[in-house]
Amino acid sequence: VTGAHAETRTELARICRRLYERDMVTSTGGNVSARADGGEILISPTGRSLADLAPDEFVSVGPGGRLEGGRPSKELAFHRAVYERQPGAGAVVHGHCAVAIAVAGGLTPDDRDAFPAYTAGYVMRVGRLPVLPYFPSGSPALAEAVGRAIGPDGRAVLLQNHGFVTAGPSLDAAFNTAEELIDALKVFVFSGGRAPALPGDARDALARGQRHIGQEAGS
Ligand SMILES: [Zn+2]
Repeated sequence: VTGAHAETRTELARICRRLYERDMVTSTGGNVSARADGGEILISPTGRSLADLAPDEFVSVGPGGRLEGGRPSKELAFHRAVYERQPGAGAVVHGHCAVAIAVAGGLTPDDRDAFPAYTAGYVMRVGRLPVLPYFPSGSPALAEAVGRAIGPDGRAVLLQNHGFVTAGPSLDAAFNTAEELIDALKVFVFSGGRAPALPGDARDALARGQRHIGQEAGS
């Protein structure tokens, strides 16, 4: 691949393929974006499976919203909402998968945190998990709710009847958070919700250590 943002485009295609191979997206659902130089965002196109996107298929969105290279995912609005809330976010991953929908539906929506932490990896890479009620795909209400729930420091949000969103300083960080999140949702399902959460003091100690290491520790 040559031309503008070749490296970011190649990384985007690689992460999209991994999401598909790990069953974190289905059919043409899900979308991935990354910040590029010059205030641009590169995002996956609408109506395509993430399984086999080529690097040059990602759509460039300029700072003023100018589009180049095709039609972006209709969920662009919530990707932009995350970047606006988090100057340090370099990438956003969004998947539609059965385990996210199954678990989200059984949780009570909560803007801050609605899920137990089972492992140290979860505390480090996910931290807290807001759960949002259903909003239509691509709606301004969904973008507003995702932006507010993820806030300046959130890394993941679960969407009822829809899927999940993760953010991170890099594409790898956002992907790793997504993988950690999906694994935690599987623990919930495999244990029928009975797996014990980490003790509160252990979780606090991990979270404190995480703050000292800084945001990159999860990447
Ligand atoms: Zn979606």
